[in-house]
Amino acid sequence: MPIKVPNNLPAIETLTKENVFVMTDTRAMTQDIRPLQILILNLMPTKVETETQLTRLLGNTPLQVELELLQTSTHKATNISEEHMIAFYKTFSQIKHKNYDGMIITGAPVELMDFEEVDYWDELCEIMEWSKRHVHSTFHICWGAQAGLYYHYGIKKHILPKKLSGVYKHNLDYKNGMLFRGFDDEFYVPHSRNTTVNREDIEAVPGLKIIASSEEAGVYAIKSENDRQIFITGHSEYDADTLMKEYIRDKNAGINPEIPCNYFPDDDDTKEPTVKWRSCANLLYSNWLNYFVYQTTQYDITQIEDASLDAMIHDNNDIDLKVAKFGGTSLADAEQFKKCAAIIEAEKERRYVVVSAPGKRRENDVKVTDLLIECADKNKAEAEEVLPKLMSRYKVLVRGLGVDVDIDKEFEKITEALGKPAKRDYIISRGEYLNAKIMSALTGMDFVDAEGTIFLDENGIYDEEKTKAVLGKVLKEHERAVIPGFYGTMPDGSIKTFSRGGSDITGAIVAAVAGADIYENWTDVSGFYMVDPRVVANPLSVPVITYKELRELSYMGASVLHEDTIFPVVKVEIPINIRNTNRPEDNGTLIVKNADYFQSGFSVSGISGKKGYSTIAIEKPRFNEQPQLRADLLDIFAYNGVTIKNILSGIDSVTVVVRDEFFQDIEEQLVAEIEEKIAPTSVSITHDLAMIAIVGRELSTSPAIAVKVLGALANRKINIKLIDHGSEKISMMLGVDEADYVSSIEALYTEFTRL
Ligand code: ASP
Repeated sequence: MPIKVPNNLPAIETLTKENVFVMTDTRAMTQDIRPLQILILNLMPTKVETETQLTRLLGNTPLQVELELLQTSTHKATNISEEHMIAFYKTFSQIKHKNYDGMIITGAPVELMDFEEVDYWDELCEIMEWSKRHVHSTFHICWGAQAGLYYHYGIKKHILPKKLSGVYKHNLDYKNGMLFRGFDDEFYVPHSRNTTVNREDIEAVPGLKIIASSEEAGVYAIKSENDRQIFITGHSEYDADTLMKEYIRDKNAGINPEIPCNYFPDDDDTKEPTVKWRSCANLLYSNWLNYFVYQTTQYDITQIEDASLDAMIHDNNDIDLKVAKFGGTSLADAEQFKKCAAIIEAEKERRYVVVSAPGKRRENDVKVTDLLIECADKNKAEAEEVLPKLMSRYKVLVRGLGVDVDIDKEFEKITEALGKPAKRDYIISRGEYLNAKIMSALTGMDFVDAEGTIFLDENGIYDEEKTKAVLGKVLKEHERAVIPGFYGTMPDGSIKTFSRGGSDITGAIVAAVAGADIYENWTDVSGFYMVDPRVVANPLSVPVITYKELRELSYMGASVLHEDTIFPVVKVEIPINIRNTNRPEDNGTLIVKNADYFQSGFSVSGISGKKGYSTIAIEKPRFNEQPQLRADLLDIFAYNGVTIKNILSGIDSVTVVVRDEFFQDIEEQLVAEIEEKIAPTSVSITHDLAMIAIVGRELSTSPAIAVKVLGALANRKINIKLIDHGSEKISMMLGVDEADYVSSIEALYTEFTRL
């Protein structure tokens, strides 16, 4: 327990430096107390022993703890009675709507298998993913730690030349941490495993820190930078005789185990083992519970998750019409089609479905639309060589689904159009057309073609009025229908495709015309990631963002759904829900006009950015007071075809931010023109900048966010080259050296996902 002292007592500073946890009057007065909710996912075969060991350790604190036990439903425990499991254990579906202050994921006797071979691996991944949002701090033990490091950070485990079994001496790698507060310089921990994780692999992940290790047993304790994940490779919780029981078990199994190291007196397995780790085990668990759970968790446990989002998306009586658009990867093959059909069947409100063409089945695969473009752009003879590839892809699909769609007949029509420039868009649109036919056959929904129902004007711009009139009427005649995405009809009746990815537009058009309550966009990610997953592995997705935030994030290069494709629903303020076809149980991201009714849990909605920028800083006394000069400056950029990303102005200077690709080749010419027309005191150019946008609606009301942004970067000693608070006040733009890009994004992500 912390020691509470008067606010300004000089002892605070000394004790804080000594790592004694001191709480001031003010904090103590504002700290509310309630029992801690702790969940144990028990994967050990010796269920009762593990329950007892962990309960003993968790009970050794003055904090009140309410314990729940969780089992996997994909794997039935064999060493224990069914009654015990039914009486004391819950399954994930029973608890997944709840939040926990802490969770322990135990070890499991499956370490020699590949993770993916373990029969409950998928379920465990789901639980680990869930833990990021529903648990304040997760404590992973032994195989649980290896599984967590692999799932969350891609760190592999390696088989040891021989089993590590015994009690080993450990030291702290990081002395000032709270998890090992009060530990001696040397301490002992039992280990019992055949596999290990490598120090270098962990050190290569900036968000992880090794806090304790052993010369013989390797890395022992690791924590994530935001303190919400702890990974412990040893078994502090073991009883005096656990290693002995495992040793005897292995002996009886004829494995011929070595005597556990440093365990039996004189290595004599007839003597009673000496316990050297119990006090450290108690301290470790009470430190975790106190500093990593109790002191930092939310008093209002519901704030760990976004319950309001759940209510909005599911079980909402006000929602009776959903339009679901499925993207290319969701329809890449028969398996994926079946997942979509199951999603459609799952809710009767999903009455209109919009489909893309089949996308890539694997990394190096080709999208059907790309093959169609190839056919449309070749002469007839060459195109006829490509067509069989396409035809067989559809035949395999139709056969795999067992539906009756006459592919030969459809391809005869396409063959007829080959080599005719006027039929180019018709050919390219067939990917979506055929998919809609197949989905209609699979689900029994009606087929409604986009040809003759969605209209464009002579400039190829969406004709809202005509579409509303015609499509609106047609939809009324069909209770449930599938509509192909990506194309519409020109005034002369010909087919015209939209820009690439344009099925998103069709989905939004259908949702707007049908007056849907929600537009679901089903893809292969669980929503809008807070950061680029190529920079931070498995990032959290944002539960709720506004249309405006999406716009800001798209502007800085974030992908998933481009704001240009959603204008029809934005206009009529229909919420958009980005969902994952491969994980329909995830809520994904909800994009709304007004997010006031949703708890966000996070104070920013996204961090996006790009490398490859330069700045041109032009100085001239009182520059800002001379509008003509400013206009001349902008003209110079415009004439030279250099798009300006951002402009920052001071009293005597203007700084222009541009993309390197537009600027590189004409840099000298541009500077010469500026010198000639503006006569500045100086022009200075900075290359190799990365621009980062921190977007969040709370930025406009909470100055603390800007302070956090700057603090997070200052802590990593990152030099900020420029700052701009966007005019909408929901974003903040920073320029840093390209070399600091990844580390800046990591620092910001860590800062804003800390609860
Ligand atoms: N099939 C089209 C494309 O690849 C449209 C879409 O998938 O949204 O761009």
